[in-house]
Amino acid sequence: MIERNGNLIVISGPSGVGKSTLVKQARTELPYLEFSVSCTTRSPRAGEVDGKDYFFLSEYEFENRVQQGEFIEYAGVFDHRYGTLKSEVLHRIRRGADVILDIDVQGARLIRQASLDDTEIARAAQFIMIVPPDVATLEARLSGRNSETPESLKLRLAGAKSELANFRLYDYLVVNDDLDTAAAELISLLKCMKMRTATIKGEPFA
Ligand code: 5GP
Repeated sequence: MIERNGNLIVISGPSGVGKSTLVKQARTELPYLEFSVSCTTRSPRAGEVDGKDYFFLSEYEFENRVQQGEFIEYAGVFDHRYGTLKSEVLHRIRRGADVILDIDVQGARLIRQASLDDTEIARAAQFIMIVPPDVATLEARLSGRNSETPESLKLRLAGAKSELANFRLYDYLVVNDDLDTAAAELISLLKCMKMRTATIKGEPFA
């Protein structure tokens, strides 16, 4: 029998690109997928649940976890701090689960860097970026969302453009023009990851 480690699947995409909707659809379609719940110092939005959407921490609690070495990566995004806990990821990939990390470009870059001297991460990490068909579409979607103050909207738009400029950091690009098409593309990518040779444990054919 072929035994595998799981994949550590980094998914990034600028604010407003439809990333959460796509990831949600993929998780419904592929229920074996697990999700890394990040820590953040931002306040919960309406409907967000602590421990499910994020672990909502104070600056002090976040810094404590940084000092304790609890994060695989952490970064400042907009005015707040976000980080991926080792405890959300490593034991899961060791038992063969595919874990999705919804993190920004800085976090993706840190995981790429970590993979240079950590073979476990190098074998597991796969990088997907979700992009809009063009910047104008993204602007329209983001201002239609109405969840941001004008100030934060401006910040997110500027952030979006610089995120998109980093697309070559990723292995795969999913263009979200039509939602169903993008969801189908994302799902087929995630299915393919189950067939990667890099995650196979030992020498099953010896
Ligand atoms: P939001 O505040 O809209 O939930 O997320 C803002 C941005 O932070 C998104 O691009 C999201 O991918 C990113 N993000 C969420 N969690 C993490 C994390 O643990 N690490 C990093 N680097 N970025 C994160």
